[in-house]
Amino acid sequence: MPINLEDPKKFRPLVGQAHQVAMNMLRPISRKYDRAEHAYPKELDMLAAMIDGLSESGASEGAGAAGVRRDEKETETGVKNGANLASVMSIAEMCWGDVGLLLSMPRQGLGNSAIASVADDEQLERFAGVWAGMAITEPGTGSDSANIKTTAVLDGDEYVLNGEKIYVTAGDRADHIVVWATLDRSLGRAAIKSFVVPKGTPGMRVDRLEHKLGIRASDTATIIFEDCRVPKENLLGSPEIDPKQGFAGAMATFDNTRPLVAAMAVGCARAALDLTRDLLAEAGVTVDYDRPAHLQSAAAAKFLQMEADWEAAHLLMLQAAWMADNRKPNSLEASMAKAKAGRVGSDITLSCVELCGSVGYSEAELLEKWARDSKILDIFEGTQQIQQLIIARRVLGLTSAELK
Ligand SMILES: Cc1cc2nc3c(=O)[nH]c(=O)nc-3n(C[C@H](O)[C@H](O)[C@H](O)COP(=O)(O)OP(=O)(O)OC[C@H]3O[C@@H](n4cnc5c(N)ncnc54)[C@H](O)[C@@H]3O)c2cc1C
Repeated sequence: MPINLEDPKKFRPLVGQAHQVAMNMLRPISRKYDRAEHAYPKELDMLAAMIDGLSESGASEGAGAAGVRRDEKETETGVKNGANLASVMSIAEMCWGDVGLLLSMPRQGLGNSAIASVADDEQLERFAGVWAGMAITEPGTGSDSANIKTTAVLDGDEYVLNGEKIYVTAGDRADHIVVWATLDRSLGRAAIKSFVVPKGTPGMRVDRLEHKLGIRASDTATIIFEDCRVPKENLLGSPEIDPKQGFAGAMATFDNTRPLVAAMAVGCARAALDLTRDLLAEAGVTVDYDRPAHLQSAAAAKFLQMEADWEAAHLLMLQAAWMADNRKPNSLEASMAKAKAGRVGSDITLSCVELCGSVGYSEAELLEKWARDSKILDIFEGTQQIQQLIIARRVLGLTSAELK
């Protein structure tokens, strides 16, 4: 089936609204919360209430991470533009405003995507409206997420969790955390499951917050679990340990979240490109999209090359989300989108600082902030190197044991 390169018409109002919110509500407080690291952006409460209202009225199909869901229904044509596509498009717009603030939006956490991806219908209903962070990383476990040491032991009707999770985005502010833990370390990756833990559960505590290079509006927490008991119904998906399925259960989350992180990078890079084009124009450099780059100034040629990189990342993002909407396996495409967008997002934002010189480097504009913010998008939810490894395995048909 040919790919349609135009944005779906039905999402134009949603994208327009997200752009207005980014411009009028996020941009004006962007610098304030970059400086006031760890201060709660209270302005977002009103915004979250508005988004809830839109979702309830059906006016918004997936305004954020919480909208992501593999739809089971077939459409008449067999092809649909659904919640995943709506989410990446609106998230990109919101990140044109501010990535750190998007990551701080109540009820739009990456844990919400995990719930949406893996939960059964009863759990979906029970956890509707929560704000969930996602806790995978541990002091000894980053890229190698199969190495998780946090344990979950069944005791009567409850699982007892023990372990330490670090770098949990929204870990302090979210009201629930989706925790990855192993049911049995001797059984390897197949025994890793995710558990929804409500804040305030005895045995769970936020230990500290990190100071960071970028996305300073977003809180990043260390969370300790000591004999923390959750009902056994809070395990997401199946409690069976199926070595054939391997890591697939919990990992399915990444197929939905990686396109979202790609969208964040696409939005942040777009912001840098738009401002740089204006600043270049003020300095007398116009970028002509209809003339070959080598006939234009060096600055314009560099700008056109960045536009091409941006477009490639944008299209890969759309493809990965569209495949999720249409229930096509998209692990390869999700990693391709994240790898491309993560890398060019960093390259573009830093190159925009370079093109704008001292104005780019100074706090008078947001360019230097976007260069700091975008770096994390090439690190979390799987680093650049890990995405390339996953892509290589898929393309070459090799297992994780065969290509490490
Ligand atoms: C601001 C921030 C927010 C975060 N939010 C969350 C969150 O919400 N939830 C969560 O669970 N985690 C979160 N993380 C953690 C993040 O996902 C990890 O930092 C990331 O997965 C990398 O793990 P690591 O830092 O342990 O690096 P390592 O895994 O130690 O990697 C170090 C370097 O080695 C490279 N490398 C590793 N293995 C290979 C290999 N096999 N081949 C080639 N190169 C390799 C990596 O690409 C990287 O460049 C966050 C981190 C930050 C900084």
